[in-house]
Amino acid sequence: MHPQHLNLLLDLLAQPTAPFREEHIIACASHVLEQANVPYFSDPVGNLIIGATSRAHYLRRIGEKSTEPLRVFIAHMDHPGFHCVEWLSSDRSRGRLKVLWHGGAPVKHLAGAAVWLADRHGWAGSGTLRKVTLIASKRTIHSAEVLLDTPLNTPATSLYGGFQFRAPVWRRGKKLYTKAADDLVGVFAIVATALEMFGTAKRRAASAPPFIGLLTRAEEVGFVGAVGHFELGWLSTKHRPIVCVSLEASRTLPGAIVGKGPVVRLGDRRTVFNPDALKVLTDLAEHVLPGKHQRRVMDGGACEATAATAYGFPAIGISVPLGNYHNQGFEGGPDCAHTEGPAPEFVHLDDIAGELVLCRALMQSNLPWGDAWHKQRQALQKNLRGYRKLLNP
Ligand SMILES: [Zn+2]
Repeated sequence: MHPQHLNLLLDLLAQPTAPFREEHIIACASHVLEQANVPYFSDPVGNLIIGATSRAHYLRRIGEKSTEPLRVFIAHMDHPGFHCVEWLSSDRSRGRLKVLWHGGAPVKHLAGAAVWLADRHGWAGSGTLRKVTLIASKRTIHSAEVLLDTPLNTPATSLYGGFQFRAPVWRRGKKLYTKAADDLVGVFAIVATALEMFGTAKRRAASAPPFIGLLTRAEEVGFVGAVGHFELGWLSTKHRPIVCVSLEASRTLPGAIVGKGPVVRLGDRRTVFNPDALKVLTDLAEHVLPGKHQRRVMDGGACEATAATAYGFPAIGISVPLGNYHNQGFEGGPDCAHTEGPAPEFVHLDDIAGELVLCRALMQSNLPWGDAWHKQRQALQKNLRGYRKLLNP
């Protein structure tokens, strides 16, 4: 991976984030986009939109008359974590907090698990979990207490956090271990692709590439940022097609192995995706990453392509296989003390590099979006001709 790309990726992975508390990811991404003169703005929901400078500019881009579909790349900036709600009333030293969990989590070996805390200024401290209660279905954490390592003198509600490991991110060979690869790797891929698309002065002088990046908030609690964006109605277009591309880090499964390449995501836990756009992506992957990509329904979780599908937009997905999904130690490894207990997520640098190749390929002009099955149909017709005489003996 290009050193500049690796730096950006490590920078993003080193930021604290939680559902509704994506401020540091927004700051990091905005800074990089600003430096490179890439247009961006925030929508009313607080999502970061890349490829336009304002609502009016965005609507102009959606309204352009073109047969080239606008590629709307979607990734989310949050990761499961907790919000602090109050200092425990009995506690004068401000060393114990009540916290509410948002999103998925391990449900075993939680007592004494290390957590980080942050606020809008950055990292704020660390502590351990105790008195954890699960939601009724027992699938994730409902609430807990956090015992701080060092008391803090801040309003409880300014603090949020997640599971802590030896560092926010570290590298071992080609694997990156981190508190949260889901979905900061997707955020990285969109920012890196945007830098490339809008990067050169020459490009800026020409017409803008058919690229929109939608970096969303609070995906982990039901695609809240994406749905909030779709509800604005801005994406309704009469003059040009659009295709939504969800970029995710998704739970590794048989046939979607960490290190074997990015996954052409045929669907998620809720639905399969758009077959025409998937055909374009499938053929592209065969062409640009022969033998170095994977392809399957990633039904270990749902993603924003489902939200886009629910709103009637053609959607596809690309996944980077993810170890220890949502910090659950399914695959174990460093800093995972107990199977299925808290563990750092991990991803492979080759899979991420492959994801960038696929994103770039999807931006090629004149891809057969309008008739993705043309070549396949020709092959089927040829086969039919070969068998005609058996049909009519
Ligand atoms: Zn995710």
